[in-house]
Amino acid sequence: MNSEADRTVEHSDFDAVVVGAGFAGMYMLHCLRKLGLSVRVYETGGDVGGTWYWNRYPGARCDVESMQYSYSFDADLDQEWSWSERYSPQPEILAYANHIAEKYDLRRDICFDTQVTAATFNETANLWVIETDRTDRVTAQHCIMAVGCLSAANTPPFEGMSNFKGPIYHTGHWPHDGVDFSGQRLGIIGTGSSAIQSIPIMAQQAKTLTVFQRTPNYAVPAWNGPMDKDYEAEIKASYPDFRAKARARPTGFYFPFNIKPALDATPEEREQQYEEFWSRGGLPFLGAFGDLLFEKEANDTVAEFARRKIRSVVNDPAVADLLCPDNIFGCKRLCVDSNYYEVYNEPHVKLVDVSKKPIERFIKTGIVTDGTEYELDAVVCATGFAAMTGSFDKIKITGRDGLTLAKKWEAGPRTYLGMSTVGFPNFFMITGPGSPSVLANMIPSIEQHVDWMVDCISHMRDVGAETIEATLSYEDNWVDHVNAVSEISLRSTCSSWYVGANIPGRPRVFMPYIGGFPVYVTKCNDVMTNGYEGFVLEGATETNTPPRIRWTDRWQVELDIEIMSPAAISAGRVPVV
Ligand code: FAD
Ligand code: NAP
Repeated sequence: MNSEADRTVEHSDFDAVVVGAGFAGMYMLHCLRKLGLSVRVYETGGDVGGTWYWNRYPGARCDVESMQYSYSFDADLDQEWSWSERYSPQPEILAYANHIAEKYDLRRDICFDTQVTAATFNETANLWVIETDRTDRVTAQHCIMAVGCLSAANTPPFEGMSNFKGPIYHTGHWPHDGVDFSGQRLGIIGTGSSAIQSIPIMAQQAKTLTVFQRTPNYAVPAWNGPMDKDYEAEIKASYPDFRAKARARPTGFYFPFNIKPALDATPEEREQQYEEFWSRGGLPFLGAFGDLLFEKEANDTVAEFARRKIRSVVNDPAVADLLCPDNIFGCKRLCVDSNYYEVYNEPHVKLVDVSKKPIERFIKTGIVTDGTEYELDAVVCATGFAAMTGSFDKIKITGRDGLTLAKKWEAGPRTYLGMSTVGFPNFFMITGPGSPSVLANMIPSIEQHVDWMVDCISHMRDVGAETIEATLSYEDNWVDHVNAVSEISLRSTCSSWYVGANIPGRPRVFMPYIGGFPVYVTKCNDVMTNGYEGFVLEGATETNTPPRIRWTDRWQVELDIEIMSPAAISAGRVPVV
């Protein structure tokens, strides 16, 4: 029981409050409105777009092809929007988000520049009390978190940062007016996707660029370029079919995939295959063979191929050695680059290894590591995010009996289907931990979750239920399943943000669901058709009304047998990039 909230709650201000106005929050608002619900959205940022509002660093772009990294819910939208490049740059994705906001008139229900600070479930009124940093305090039946998986920027607390005389930027909080590094001695910390995208462009501007690398990453060339108009026309001619094909893939996006094991091929055949997939570039490179993320020996062959590629580009063998990862290929999120390795042949770019001797401290004039002082005018932290749960951690979320989400998730997130968590009724998480989320194309992941939740809320109205809440045994089983599936993949073996290892002190838990998008969607559909199996609906007056599948109808996916043979599925070997 929560006495503060109990004292004052008398009525519901809104049917639903949504936290976040990225692609998840925007689509949720659109759907709930269609259902006739009153909705308030809160967004910390000054406008829509989420990831694409915040990550304005030079070179930011998607790594899922634009023809697939887009909403699919409106056939007109599919036809009217055109992408100018194979992988769209951030400004264009943000323009798309703005277009959505305008087309569906979303902004009138969104409070920008407003951060939700607390959400408390009032057990007497069965309502959520939502508080913000602007002193808003509203109540709603449903509290829907659209806070993003990669939205809580992580700036490590390096000693002496405040002494540094120049500016310190984070790629995930980039100034809206841009930054010009011309003539400057620039330092960048980190070599993940954000750094790998931005370094080639920053190197063009800066007088000198010093890259502080703790762990090298594998990067596959994007081969980005202007959109092939014939390709665009071909897809647009049958967009629904193309989307359906993509949904049947474990990743939720379509690309040629070879199910055959690398270990069955001769070295020459492997080389030819890797070359062919390398020439297509990007994340689909992982589709060269079916066992790359399951068999260490198979993975060694692709890792060695990638290391040879690095050595073929980087002139100085010592620098090339430093850039060559020795961990599992694709274990951390694979990076997709444009002229990244080439940059290290430029005389004004320096790579500093901080793997054994970490960054010691910032001083007024730069950064000190291993006793050496690097003089810098500006520093960029490309140091990533408190992934999956970081934005939840920033809100005081209190469910039944005063239980906080922080307490419940102390040893790692626990959810049922990544959408719901016991003790927190009418609390939904879009792409929450325990769902495919970041291991799949995020926009279909978002749409599938929203459609499921909207059908669920709609069912609650049909039957007159006041609350819906997951049950403990189902949640425990789901958590066990998520863990068990993750262990089948080599992905669970390295220290990535998927397991929270990028932030000291976080529990090591593999957070996204790695069983593949279609398997997951089928599970969600079954839960629904079985009358919301594993959930308890309280207050229902129409207990015999079966669930009507309306929004979720478009997610009846077939498993793509071309790449997911029955044997592969039964062995839990679902290929995922
Ligand atoms: P977000 O876009 O993160 O939006 C969440 C919003 O919630 C944010 O605007 C945030 O300000 C707001 N918020 C959080 N907490 C609060 C609070 N307490 N109060 C109010 N508002 C709050 N995915 C892909 O599938 N393909 C890609 O190519 C791809 N590229 C990416 C590139 C970058 C640089 C990054 C960082 C991520 C990328 N992703 C990609 C993942 C990307 O996050 C998702 O594709 C998608 O944009 C997520 O949308 P979302 O609405 O769920 O979350
Ligand atoms: P990231 O992958 O977590 O990379 C952060 C980098 O900072 C890593 O190199 C990390 O080293 C380093 N780092 C962190 N703390 C450090 C410290 N104390 N000292 C030195 N180095 C430190 O973050 P990101 O690059 O922002 O990418 C996050 C995710 O966002 C991606 O994996 C991807 O899913 C998404 N993204 C996608 C794209 C795209 O291509 N569309 C672009 C950007 C981001 P360690 O590896 O040693 O921890």
